[in-house]
Amino acid sequence: MPVLSEVIAALDALWPPERAEQWDAVGTVCGDPDAPVGRVLFAVDPVQEVVDEAVELGADLLVTHHPLYLRGTTTVAASTFKGRVVHTLIKNDIALHVAHTNADRADPGVSDALAGALDLRVTGPLVPDPSDSAGRRGLGRICEVEPPLTLAEFAARAAERLPATAQGIRVAGDPERIIRTVAVCGGSGDSLFDEVRAAGVDAYVTADLRHHPASEAQHHSPLALVDAAHWATEWPWIEQAAAQLDEISDRHGWGLRTHISRTVTDPWTAHAASSASSSHH
Ligand SMILES: [Zn+2]
Repeated sequence: MPVLSEVIAALDALWPPERAEQWDAVGTVCGDPDAPVGRVLFAVDPVQEVVDEAVELGADLLVTHHPLYLRGTTTVAASTFKGRVVHTLIKNDIALHVAHTNADRADPGVSDALAGALDLRVTGPLVPDPSDSAGRRGLGRICEVEPPLTLAEFAARAAERLPATAQGIRVAGDPERIIRTVAVCGGSGDSLFDEVRAAGVDAYVTADLRHHPASEAQHHSPLALVDAAHWATEWPWIEQAAAQLDEISDRHGWGLRTHISRTVTDPWTAHAASSASSSHH
């Protein structure tokens, strides 16, 4: 059975921490480097429900996409919700490791997993990483839809393939428009509209789109928008990440057992459709 430091070294090779954004907080949050690791749980959010799931599973390591602490703290008292998470982890000998923007930019990264879930063929990054001569790493992905679909069909595919959330899928654009090329960005993507427009794609799939950037994008060009729950756009990455660790484990004969959390940790828990149907006029 490998020890934590060996497993972390393998994860750092997949998602080198130095490739994270400056403001990010990636890496190991808690855990003993010499502790044996037999079972690993992957999840998007390091929240109490997920940590409780790790305890129940008997996991030795929890790998999450989102950081527990993005900024410094002066307390891990169990009276705070993040402190409660830290207490639960340490009391149960569970390490926590975070791969966030370093996983976004990786090859394969978070947006490759999103593209894969939607059955899209990736042609390259939306914002290429200048340090990657192969031109594969970077933020977001540009993809082809083969065969092309209408926007309505494409949105239905997203609703079917991404894990279910209260939000579901929000769509902007003519439902009959043919979608041949798509930009995807797992997580909050509304800072990338300039790059999406420059890519000249038919549609953009991301999360957390706000009124003004979405409205402006629509007035610039006939770009269709497909907005899913933030958690749902990043969830396919945990399946991909677990498969990557499985492969490493097989290669080393580690015999790790990997699990993916299906707990929906999107903060939105209900969706009330407006009573007057505005979509059928
Ligand atoms: Zn995110």
